[in-house]
Amino acid sequence: KPKAIIIGAGIAGIASAIRMATKGFDVDIFESNAFPGGKLAQIKSEVFRFDAGPSLFTMPKYVDELFELAGKNPIDYFKYERLEEICRYFYEDGLKLTASADLNKFADEIEAKTNSTAKEVSAYLKKSETIYEVTHKVFLERTLHKIKSYIHWDTLKSVLKFGQIDAFRTQSKANSSFFKDERIAQLFNRYATYNGSNPYQAPATLNVIPHFEYHFGAFLPTEGMYSITTSLVKLAEDLGVKFHYNKPVDEIKYSAESKLKIEGIICDEELIKADVVISNLDIWFTYKNLLKNFPAPKRLLQQERSSSALIFYWGIKGIHPELGLHNILFAEDYKAEFDSIWKEKTIYKDPTVYINISSKHIKNDAPENCENWFVMINVPSNSGQNWDILIAEARQNILNKMERILKKEIASSIIFEQILDPRSIEAKTSSYQGALYGNSSNNQFAAFLRHPNFSSKIENLYFCGGSVHPGGGIPLALLSAKIIDENLNIPKSIKDTFAN
Ligand code: FAD
Repeated sequence: KPKAIIIGAGIAGIASAIRMATKGFDVDIFESNAFPGGKLAQIKSEVFRFDAGPSLFTMPKYVDELFELAGKNPIDYFKYERLEEICRYFYEDGLKLTASADLNKFADEIEAKTNSTAKEVSAYLKKSETIYEVTHKVFLERTLHKIKSYIHWDTLKSVLKFGQIDAFRTQSKANSSFFKDERIAQLFNRYATYNGSNPYQAPATLNVIPHFEYHFGAFLPTEGMYSITTSLVKLAEDLGVKFHYNKPVDEIKYSAESKLKIEGIICDEELIKADVVISNLDIWFTYKNLLKNFPAPKRLLQQERSSSALIFYWGIKGIHPELGLHNILFAEDYKAEFDSIWKEKTIYKDPTVYINISSKHIKNDAPENCENWFVMINVPSNSGQNWDILIAEARQNILNKMERILKKEIASSIIFEQILDPRSIEAKTSSYQGALYGNSSNNQFAAFLRHPNFSSKIENLYFCGGSVHPGGGIPLALLSAKIIDENLNIPKSIKDTFAN
């Protein structure tokens, strides 16, 4: 059988392994950690369980389709529920909003409690849908790096409608024009952070993101986000994929005949040969560490990185009914928060605090009368800040904010604590500067400035994951594996092996 090697068992690496196995390849994944999942991992204490990274799950169809591709029934491996409530929002002036998945209900609540109207909400989400319709096939589901994508009818249609994607003003400008009440503009500005960007710089095209939640739905896997990883690992293993943990790959080997051609990888000083190699590493580290003597595409690698995060995993004594699964405690001055992250490269003194409590739905995630709080703020990517000092200040500012908004003292209820910061994100997942989503989308050309999913110089070398096209986040990382699958250039010699 022809052999494929995947470097890294992040979500896109696992998806690539499944796709290659279903194509008939003999597949091995080499992973430097002792566990799969990369950013999509979990943290366990004796009594609490936390999803370490992602907590928002959209577009489950991209997970389901991997089971279907392998001829399996998804629900035999992986179950999830559609959420009735998307998020609870809290403002410093006392305003509280509950974003129901029932759009009419949410729009009515906005009209009843703010200066914005239900009509504004529906006009905004209509625009969000239009942007999705124009962009998804071209920018998300296909490679942008092959001529064939551009001679497609859908692409031509999209080019004709390019004016509708709102690429020439910032997201915050657009949202202030949609909503009379700045607090509602702020609520929708937050969607820029779903791919680590700044709403005061990023194009209004990012207003496509709410369409994923309000139209396709927000979901929660019944056994937690980490079960996305474990169920796909199970599927891969059932298809014969071999996982090698604690095996950091040191080099990608290629032979220099008439055309550069993949030869395999070096791991533990041994050459392991392969017909196809797919790197799931952050593209920056793929070039820096694994293709050391190969000329790197400097312009693509020097793009601004997405933001990072500071997360406190808190085991909390007591039940807090005012909080739901997803909660946001907004900064009073949102612009100042983003200036602080993006211009001053530091943590803002009054950060927007995201609290995710999976035990609201998954009872085993916390003991009785306790909750598991995943408390996250957006912070700049790592450029050598004095994180220990910044983290201590941020912890106190977060607790003060919780006390102001929730009207409760929280510090004394914390019975378990672990912390993840840009340095540890970089160390644990080899994400350059600890960026959560690869490059930022702070400019109109960001989609074109991500690395392609294949090497145009080394035959049969491919790239998947959040740092390459089409971008970061679980759905897009899964799509990167799909794009490789659809553009796999299987040489005749390998096709002949399949035929035999
Ligand atoms: P990664 O997760 O980056 O994994 C890469 C893997 O490669 C790692 O396992 C690493 O150990 C391995 N590796 C590195 N070097 C080597 C080597 N030399 N040899 C072998 N293996 C190696 N996305 C969402 O959709 N929703 C969210 O709510 C969300 N929230 C997030 C919150 C946090 C705190 C974080 C960190 C991320 C969040 N994301 C979210 C982003 C999402 O997690 C990522 O976009 C996605 O998981 C990236 O997957 P990936 O395939 O690029 O691989």
